[in-house]
Amino acid sequence: MSEIDVRVKGQGSVTGDAVIVDTAIDTICSACGGSAEAVAELKSHYVCAECLRLRLEAISVARYQLRGSSKLPWGKLTS
Ligand SMILES: [Zn+2]
Repeated sequence: MSEIDVRVKGQGSVTGDAVIVDTAIDTICSACGGSAEAVAELKSHYVCAECLRLRLEAISVARYQLRGSSKLPWGKLTS
């Protein structure tokens, strides 16, 4: 896995061992559009911790729900 570029508002960016001080760095989140305290690079976009956490939770919930549905008859949908 390549090193992840992290930007911290008012401070700068860190990519592995490369630390760049830049007090004017842009920390706008591509997912929610907000100005975040810190963002991590994801395929040329920058995403805040809250948006990453929400997606991680959604993955956990989806895995749980699909694990449960695998025991149901094929094609049956429940809400
Ligand atoms: Zn966000």
